[in-house]
Amino acid sequence: MTGTDASSAISNLPPRVAAVIVAAGRGVRAGGPVPKQYQEIAGKPVLARAVEQFRAHPAVDSIVVVISPEDSALAEAVLPGDVARVFGGASRDASVRAGLAALPDGIGHVLIHDGARPLVPAEVIDRVLSALRTSDGAAPALAVTDALWRGERGNVGAPTPRDNLYRAQTPQGFDLAAIRAAHAAHPGGAADDVEVALAAGLDVAIVEGHEDNLKVTLPGCFARAERILSEGKQMDVRLGNGYDVHRFGPGDHVMLCGVAVPHGRGLQGHSDADVGMHAITDAIYGALAEGDIGRHFPPSDPQWKGAASEIFLRHAAGLCAARGYAIANVDCTLVCERPKIGPHAGAMRAALSAILGTGTDRISVKATTSERLGFTGREEGIAALATATLVSQCVADR
Ligand code: MG
Repeated sequence: MTGTDASSAISNLPPRVAAVIVAAGRGVRAGGPVPKQYQEIAGKPVLARAVEQFRAHPAVDSIVVVISPEDSALAEAVLPGDVARVFGGASRDASVRAGLAALPDGIGHVLIHDGARPLVPAEVIDRVLSALRTSDGAAPALAVTDALWRGERGNVGAPTPRDNLYRAQTPQGFDLAAIRAAHAAHPGGAADDVEVALAAGLDVAIVEGHEDNLKVTLPGCFARAERILSEGKQMDVRLGNGYDVHRFGPGDHVMLCGVAVPHGRGLQGHSDADVGMHAITDAIYGALAEGDIGRHFPPSDPQWKGAASEIFLRHAAGLCAARGYAIANVDCTLVCERPKIGPHAGAMRAALSAILGTGTDRISVKATTSERLGFTGREEGIAALATATLVSQCVADR
């Protein structure tokens, strides 16, 4: 290291760290309409997650992402505006060289990371940086624990000793000047930067990798990454109830849970008076602690006069989805002597299912009389009770 008086104070500071995230490959084995690094894991693209892990790390000063010119538009949509991007070359080493060349002045250590590893834990980055204090290079790896065989035409051939064998991961960290020189001297075709460093005679320390630091390679890797993200996350469950009453008046049918049921009288109300749908809507608002129908659709507002109650239910379901909840089930009880509900219950469940986007097996509509007691017993009106259960879609942001 440098030893002049002028620089000795500076050299005691930790070297500035940059990350080069290599994402110029095509990733064809993973399938899908766009390269794997632009496909989503739990709603966020693989590359965006990889970049986020380094942006969130306090030791990383700057980041350069190496992309393919073909993916410019995709990268624009996925990468934060303050992250530098540079076009890669035809091979992995050419892409790394482009990334190294694009780093700002004053960087001492570089972490070269595969853009298809979206979940690298901060502790792995820590271990690589820590080892760089005493080594030209450092890379995370996991010791091979499974038995190894060499295959021969689909059969097991020779068993292979696994002693001292490791599965290599990234980020691979290096002294910047040393890895630049190593790349400049390398003929090309290296599998990773450790191979380039070794060819130049650099020491590369092995640090402990992490099972979560998977490389998205095959279609099944997306589901595995989602499972890792959801580990330890508790599902959030919310319950709401709703109750509504509408009075009978003149008419030849009643609207109940989205179905026009022939009857000698109608239900009165500002909207179409669908008492069942109102109770369900209020149950969903209730579960979200979002008030009731009257708050979202004031009866004083003439635009809701005679409105189809479907509008209210769709609004509640939309709020539910926007807040990250799915409707696990709905149960509605209609209280009336007449009309008979049973013959129409299937159509009501189907109508509610279509509006809520929830399977009919999760929607219940049932009825009871009140034994001729009270206002429902005297057939002055119909009452409805409803319960709704909402669950958070279980993969939370990490
Ligand atoms: Mg009502």
